[in-house]
Amino acid sequence: MKVIRSREEILSFSNKCDKEIGIVPTMGNLHDGHLKLVEASLLNNEVTIVTIFVNPKQFGPNEDFQKYPRTLDDDISRISSLEELLKNKDNELIIFAPSSVEEVYPANFNTVISVKGLDNTLCGLNRPGHFDGVCTVVYQLFSLTKAKRAYFGLKDFQQTLIIRKLVKDLLLPVDIHLIDIIRDEDGLALSSRNKYLNVDERLQALTLPKRIKNLEQLVKESGISEAMKKTKIYNKESNVDYFHILDSSNLSPVSNDTCEVVIAGAMRFGNTRLIDNTLVKINA
Ligand code: AMP
Repeated sequence: MKVIRSREEILSFSNKCDKEIGIVPTMGNLHDGHLKLVEASLLNNEVTIVTIFVNPKQFGPNEDFQKYPRTLDDDISRISSLEELLKNKDNELIIFAPSSVEEVYPANFNTVISVKGLDNTLCGLNRPGHFDGVCTVVYQLFSLTKAKRAYFGLKDFQQTLIIRKLVKDLLLPVDIHLIDIIRDEDGLALSSRNKYLNVDERLQALTLPKRIKNLEQLVKESGISEAMKKTKIYNKESNVDYFHILDSSNLSPVSNDTCEVVIAGAMRFGNTRLIDNTLVKINA
């Protein structure tokens, strides 16, 4: 397994590579959710590039960019444990872990990629500029790796919609593959930020998946409007960022044309903000 740390080397690799490349963009501190994405790429591509880059552009000024866990050695050993899944000896597993921010955004990098319309709800409201940062880094990583397929987790549902729109609008030659949320046994979605939780907060954090489940049950058994009433109650609490039920195709309010809803929530436990969601078919 090769670890590439510079822009020059990744460009030289991807420019010469005549095999299909799958990319798994991550910010590191890898858990089993990330590894599922890597596994999916390994099954479908001759070359898999896992990127590990804590992208400053997607963090707000008061967010956790400085303290975000950076665990490159552990990440490398976790990824190398998947080498046995390489389907044949010519297939490759590569880590692109830029050694500095400049390897991704060189001096005088002045471009921002912004997908309008899908970022004025859910995480976009309390994290201004976050999705512009995500789109800019994803576009840049696609350009550096020349990937044909890219793997993202449904845990960041709004992100998946925005990236799919980016690819569609700009006709990028990348197929987007989405992977289900991987959870701990007790239901908490795996997240690099779970590391910040102390024992009490880890217990309280179960409120988030429990409420998502509860809303799902309400949607299925009592209908959308009963579930919406419940979100209004949740949204009054001080540690709730949001609970919303929206049309999963475009994050607009649920209408008669809606076939599937996303039930999404974000809550804070201590200083840690966690998100979760589920998809529910309706009007079937
Ligand atoms: P991150 O390192 O948090 O930026 O996440 C990198 C990728 O892993 C994103 O596409 C996430 O949606 C995905 N991911 C994070 N947590 C999970 C999870 N629990 N299950 C599935 N995918 C995940």
